[in-house]
Amino acid sequence: MAPIKPHWSQPSHPDIQDVIVNDAEFTTKSVSKIALPPFGLFAKLEFPPCTVAAEPTYATVQIGRDKHLDLNSDLLYINHSCEPSLIFDTANMVIIAGPKGLQPGDELTFFYPSTEWDMAQPFDCFCGAPTCRGRIAGARDMTRAQLDGMWLNGHIRELLEEREQAAAVAAAAAPAETAPAKQNGSATAAATLTNGAASPHTTKTAAAAPAVPAAPADDQTVRALREALSHAEKAVEAARLALASYVAAVKPATVAGAQRRGPTSRELSGEMGGDTSV
Ligand SMILES: [Zn+2]
Repeated sequence: MAPIKPHWSQPSHPDIQDVIVNDAEFTTKSVSKIALPPFGLFAKLEFPPCTVAAEPTYATVQIGRDKHLDLNSDLLYINHSCEPSLIFDTANMVIIAGPKGLQPGDELTFFYPSTEWDMAQPFDCFCGAPTCRGRIAGARDMTRAQLDGMWLNGHIRELLEEREQAAAVAAAAAPAETAPAKQNGSATAAATLTNGAASPHTTKTAAAAPAVPAAPADDQTVRALREALSHAEKAVEAARLALASYVAAVKPATVAGAQRRGPTSRELSGEMGGDTSV
């Protein structure tokens, strides 16, 4: 984060944080002065010095759907990393160590999209982590794959779920009108895949992907919809595999039968519930 002129007396957290300013490169970073176990408390976000911001800026931290915080302290100089050493837990208004704990000299970092839904200034990350997510923006503008495995605050998880539900509804409403011939072809493939168990629901999902027409890669709505679709397809495929292996394991004698007609929803609910004797 580029240095901003502090209006607080520095250093604000001398016991736990060293702020290192690189005037030549116009950058700052922070390193830890303390050791902490995994998820140990690093600092509380208290009022004061924190204040609720009138509007989000590149220097605020989002703590709820429509709530942003001015830190008004050196905690502002905690940079982004895709393998962060810290977690900003805004529900509990604390900064805690990440799952690896903290050692003196470790750079203090957190994952910006874990708090920010919308970022005015997206940037290319050069954190150097093997899992670097590349272009860092607010969670709104990142894919599920980019956010997978990262600790995210409740308001971000909620907003992501709403985005995906909206995308799934839009995807479900759209596919029938595109390329029916292709759908038939895919339906055959899907039927083979599922040992004949392909219901209209699963064929439609399987056929939707090839039918999506080309669109500008930078269209965020298209990206979000594709992401939601891919997510749904993975879920269907996982359920299909789980069902197939369950049926194969529980009813070896009737596998041939299953190949012809596929399991019914009654079998699913009954057997998965474990109340059917074999
Ligand atoms: Zn990175």
